[in-house]
Amino acid sequence: MNEISTINSPITALQLRDNLHYLHPFTDYAELHAEGSRIQDHAEGVYIWDTDGRRIIDGLAGLGCVTLGYGRKELAEVAARQMQKLSYSQSFFKTSNEPAIQLAEKLVELTPKGLNHVFFTNSGSEANETCLKLVHRYWNLAGKPDKRVIIARAQAYHGSTIATTSLSGNPVFYTSGGGMPISGIERIEAPYWYLNGAGETPEEFGLTAARWLEDKILELGAENVAAFFAEPFQGAGGAILPPDTYWPEIQRICRKYDVLLVIDEVVSGFGRTGKWFGCETFGIEAPDLMAIAKGITSSYFPMSATMVSDRIASLLIEKGGEFYHGFTNSGHPVGAAVALENIRIMEREQVVENAAELGKHFGEHVASLADHPLVGNVRSCGLFAGIQLVADKDKRVLFDEALRVGDHCSTEALHRGLALRAIGDTMTLMPPLIITRGQIDEVFAMTRDALDATARAFKAR
Ligand code: PLP
Repeated sequence: MNEISTINSPITALQLRDNLHYLHPFTDYAELHAEGSRIQDHAEGVYIWDTDGRRIIDGLAGLGCVTLGYGRKELAEVAARQMQKLSYSQSFFKTSNEPAIQLAEKLVELTPKGLNHVFFTNSGSEANETCLKLVHRYWNLAGKPDKRVIIARAQAYHGSTIATTSLSGNPVFYTSGGGMPISGIERIEAPYWYLNGAGETPEEFGLTAARWLEDKILELGAENVAAFFAEPFQGAGGAILPPDTYWPEIQRICRKYDVLLVIDEVVSGFGRTGKWFGCETFGIEAPDLMAIAKGITSSYFPMSATMVSDRIASLLIEKGGEFYHGFTNSGHPVGAAVALENIRIMEREQVVENAAELGKHFGEHVASLADHPLVGNVRSCGLFAGIQLVADKDKRVLFDEALRVGDHCSTEALHRGLALRAIGDTMTLMPPLIITRGQIDEVFAMTRDALDATARAFKAR
């Protein structure tokens, strides 16, 4: 603690204390220690104030999770009430609680038909890990234990446990070792028309990309393939929106070869696409399993869930015996009470309908960036956007990764008071769904400014 006492500024002291003991997720520690973290102090609506008094408009809803924005008193009050009534209830030994029962009913009502059962978890990673265990349990119970291989996609993101990192499609994440990716996971390319679809219209390319799944199943033998794991659109992997033809063809292929369809709605769920779930937006009709998290509580409490179809649940219930899986905080009564209130507010304030309406205005702004000299491709859906930066617009040439152009752009945005995320050189936006038209205008004025400054720094070279 000696170093800290020599620092005069309270903010710098806090940064130093942060460096000394706190290992942040997904962080280059040497860089963080050199620069110090931004320390957030308080937040309201779509705005966050750092400890240095700077106001940031949160173009990212935290990590795509603060759907209702910050500082909703109703959610804090519900949590406080539930904590006083029943602060915890274990759910392992034939025990339950009313908020969790009610939430399960509500989630069954909101999610696609056929998903009539809920397994509660605490993070997106846990929800996906639960999907994975259920896939294997299902095929064992169904008498087809050879159906073991999971097919996932390049640039997917499904979480950061060893299994969900392995499902994710960014090889850099495997570098910590531990045998990642674990065996039994195969991969196909992402339906990324802009970079992978040379010579085809988006519609043609959607079919081509879906048929990569069929090719992979045929290569492996359908009798060995357990499931296809995918996000409706790929978020953390680079804002990849599939062409309209992609999902109908994927579903046809899964049905034809009896391959389970596992949908990761961790980021696309709870209104992000302008519908309750990405499944509705992209025409995904009957997933076998679905992971949900983030917007389920607007991240006022860590909670997530795996939605389970009748097909899987009935076998589990009738023939499964004990299912050896779960978490201490599964079905937490406080999380469930917060989720129920979060959904009540979303329904009362028509947050999803508003997101769809505002999404048009947001989408026009996104489209207007296509003329920017640094921008090769723009895409948006509801209140989610990807802006691909390129070195050469005409030839679709990307920047050298080492230049970290995207990081430069997000720093420029932050200087202007906007949280904008760089995934490589794709800039992403996913603000709270309660953002107003005026605030959307503010976000895009800052985005364009940040792009201009980045273009001056790189294109002008
Ligand atoms: N799946 C998707 C699509 C995600 O975007 C994320 C997180 O961003 C996860 C899973 C992992 O969720 P968590 O960080 O809550 O474990």
